[in-house]
Amino acid sequence: MQKLIYVLIALFIFTGCSETPEQVSSSSVLITNAIIYDGSGGDPITGAIRIADGLISEIGNISPLEGEETFDADGKVLTPGFIDQHSHHDQGLLENPASPSLLEQGITTIVAGLDGFAGSLTEADYVSIEENMKAFEANPAAINLAYFGPHNTYRNMVMGEDHVRYATDEEIGQMKTLLEADLEAGALGLATGLEYVPALYSNTEEVVELAKVAAAHGGRYSSHIRSEDITAMDAFAEAITIAREANIPVNISHIKLAMASLHGRAPEVIAMLNAARAEGLEITADQYPYDGWNSGLQLLVLSRDFYDRESAEFGLTSIADPSMIIFGRHPRKPDYTGKTLAQVAEEESRDPVFLLMSLLQEAERDDYGISVIGRNIGTSDIEEFMTWEHTAIASDGGIDGRHPRGQGTFTRVLSSYVREQGVLTLTEAIRKMTSLPAKSLGFKNRGLIEEGYIADLVIFDPDTVQDHGTYEDPIQYSTGIHAVWVGGELVWDGERETGARPGRIIRRAD
Ligand SMILES: [Zn+2]
Repeated sequence: MQKLIYVLIALFIFTGCSETPEQVSSSSVLITNAIIYDGSGGDPITGAIRIADGLISEIGNISPLEGEETFDADGKVLTPGFIDQHSHHDQGLLENPASPSLLEQGITTIVAGLDGFAGSLTEADYVSIEENMKAFEANPAAINLAYFGPHNTYRNMVMGEDHVRYATDEEIGQMKTLLEADLEAGALGLATGLEYVPALYSNTEEVVELAKVAAAHGGRYSSHIRSEDITAMDAFAEAITIAREANIPVNISHIKLAMASLHGRAPEVIAMLNAARAEGLEITADQYPYDGWNSGLQLLVLSRDFYDRESAEFGLTSIADPSMIIFGRHPRKPDYTGKTLAQVAEEESRDPVFLLMSLLQEAERDDYGISVIGRNIGTSDIEEFMTWEHTAIASDGGIDGRHPRGQGTFTRVLSSYVREQGVLTLTEAIRKMTSLPAKSLGFKNRGLIEEGYIADLVIFDPDTVQDHGTYEDPIQYSTGIHAVWVGGELVWDGERETGARPGRIIRRAD
């Protein structure tokens, strides 16, 4: 491609013709010798595809045009680019626009605003989705970006510190105004993180009221539900209630059961979700392929009262054992990183419950967060949820998070769950990374290899593709993703970023 551009630039200078850069990029490329999985979940075909004007223009047994650039897939698998519908990679994206920590696992689109929080892509602490979109468009990354309207962010803006209560009608009205503006800018819908402060103190009615606004705009609802442990069953039921009352498609983020006494109950959850679907509600989920979550240490104390010994003790006996809690980042104790709560308690000769309480009391007092990984997700449930036909793959990861999901989610599914364990077939795994998320996000022309679709594409070797991050050493790039195109531009080639930055903002298509 680079060479071709130089030739065209030379031609432009030489002939003085008025070819615009758009016309230059309209030249076509033929990807040959590929095993093409179109993303629909069907059988692959062997052949070639032509990219023209950033779109997939032809598929099948096609030969290069005279002088046409070709890219030999060398018998490897060619699929639509992976869509990560729950990502925190937007933070740090403008500093790392070449996006290697996404391209190395085949991701071509990320969605932000999830868990109900939208970070700012500018210097300001809070900016609207529209301002974030403008900042991205002024300084695009290699990958595409879409947003949900963030409930927690709205609640913080409207209620400030006075949030440990239900919102008044007037406050809900103010949140609606913020959501309306974001929807008008092209947000995909509403996202919540009901397990987090301040949404923790909202009631279902507040969420339904906002979800109705999203529904009226043809938007969707994506939720980190109110509990993934002790009251998880109620939280699934609440998500279904919101789908019904607001008449809106609902996606359950990073579906899991994170508590020993709930392990093995995924079939019950799936039956509940299937019953809702049978009723006509559009319910989907997404999932990352790990037995550990990564969040704030405070999630272990359900009462969020860090002086409440009973609640802290319950966290360490019933939710996650101290040996299963690994410190990610503690801003004041960098040496904790990678150690378990049990290890630190032993090293400091402290009672784990007392340690948990005192760490959280200090963090609350001085207003900082402590991130941990809790390895208490039921492993049989991971497989049950993964094989539910409506579960997509999504990372929930970040650029420099302390969890291997940030760099390894998609490649781990392909290596561990497809190649090694056979939990999913290759074609089904690809569907869960492409057309399924595209559909549940409402994308009209991505997620399939079909004529007229945008040429977001990946070539990988299913025999060697591999994630490498671990809980101990999480930030490791995957291997086996050979090439990635975004909007028809090659952004990853030979396991390296090319530096091209063709990423676009994807706005809701009504
Ligand atoms: Zn979440």
